[in-house]
Amino acid sequence: MQPDFIYFDIDDTLLDHMHAQQNALSDAYNHYEALQAAGLEDFQNTYKEINSRLWLEYSIGRIDRPELSLRRFQDSFTRLGIEIEDSTEVAGFYMNAYRKHWSWLPGAKEALDEICEHYPVGFITNGFAETQKLKVNDFRLKEYSDQVIISEEVGFLKPHPEIFRYAEEKAGISADKILYVGDSYSSDVKGGKAAGWQVAWFTKESDAERLSKADFNFDDFSELRAKLNGK
Ligand SMILES: [Mg+2]
Repeated sequence: MQPDFIYFDIDDTLLDHMHAQQNALSDAYNHYEALQAAGLEDFQNTYKEINSRLWLEYSIGRIDRPELSLRRFQDSFTRLGIEIEDSTEVAGFYMNAYRKHWSWLPGAKEALDEICEHYPVGFITNGFAETQKLKVNDFRLKEYSDQVIISEEVGFLKPHPEIFRYAEEKAGISADKILYVGDSYSSDVKGGKAAGWQVAWFTKESDAERLSKADFNFDDFSELRAKLNGK
């Protein structure tokens, strides 16, 4: 693994999206009494399941961003029998709460600080442009790189090859010399490998077949730092 450029995924690779989501859903649940007609865990699990399904529809262009933002709540409420007048307000409350809970994953910032001293780096993310720009701002990612590639701005979501091609052009580096560091098997490992990139998979996966698809697997950033320190 001898990259000339390293791209990082953002959510659940560098920043802890899952916990922020979980906590923001708790905040919304505690704030709106109507939501308490269901149990908190039921609400969180239903939301996550529906959100994943709607993201798939969004990724293939069947629904747009405003519809995804609203329907992940509306559909959850319908499924759980929650009656609430204004789902839009809950969706807005959630986004504000979500931002308050953002944090680095353990060891991610230290790893990025060290790695960017030895390699040029960049970021590729599938999130909403408006939200991801706030993350870039709050976590000062522009201080690491000008290459911040957001799917909504490119018009293609990972694992679509076009977003990887776009990132290659932006970096000015050929595919086989780029390392992609990400947590998602479908978006990052499969997408990165299909684009001809090297891939370091941040995962607790135990399936050997899947693990064999990435060039390097790690579940602690000290392992990635050690691997890249050879340069
Ligand atoms: Mg991710």
